[in-house]
Amino acid sequence: MLNNKQIQMNLRFLGYYGGAIDGIAGNGTIGAIEEFQRNYGLSVDGIYGAKTDTKLIEVIKAEQIKLGVTPDGIAGTQTINARDNKQLSWNDIKHFKQSEFACKCGCGFNSINLNLVKILDEIREFYGQPLTVTSGCRCRAHNAKQKNASANSRHISGKASDIKVRNVSKSVLLAKCKEYVANGRARYTYTNNTNMKNIVHIDIL
Ligand SMILES: [Zn+2]
Ligand SMILES: [Zn+2]
Repeated sequence: MLNNKQIQMNLRFLGYYGGAIDGIAGNGTIGAIEEFQRNYGLSVDGIYGAKTDTKLIEVIKAEQIKLGVTPDGIAGTQTINARDNKQLSWNDIKHFKQSEFACKCGCGFNSINLNLVKILDEIREFYGQPLTVTSGCRCRAHNAKQKNASANSRHISGKASDIKVRNVSKSVLLAKCKEYVANGRARYTYTNNTNMKNIVHIDIL
């Protein structure tokens, strides 16, 4: 079983925890454990038990294998550096132009993250159908106008997009996006029935 510091390192690496690596299992750590449990279909009790331990180590190891570092299940300096050094360019993207991700209010804001675009590129390729980005980057003002959008939405940091794919239902698209969450490349995906039509949200760490 991982110790508290290792748990915090891993949850921080995955974007669930923003606090200090102090080994103290306070509210921030417990909240992060709960969010991780929710995203991976575990019972959401905030208690770091055997099942949560196994899943967290598995997710980190998968990430480490992708990054080409030793898969020891603990996101230490080597793992963090490997991720930060992995640079994509628009030349690696087949189906999208950067302009497709600009804020829809017309302000020109566009800080879209290529790791996210790469995922969308793969989804576009998988279905062989046009993928529309209904919302990519958002400036704070435009984000504030969205229904139910969090003030700290990942759209603001260029790490989220809302997408639809021609001839693909939102449940099928959601299942596809969930594969990226399961393998650790995406952080979160969702859709709802009230105002999202065939649109699915996906974001990265
Ligand atoms: Zn804007
Ligand atoms: Zn969204």
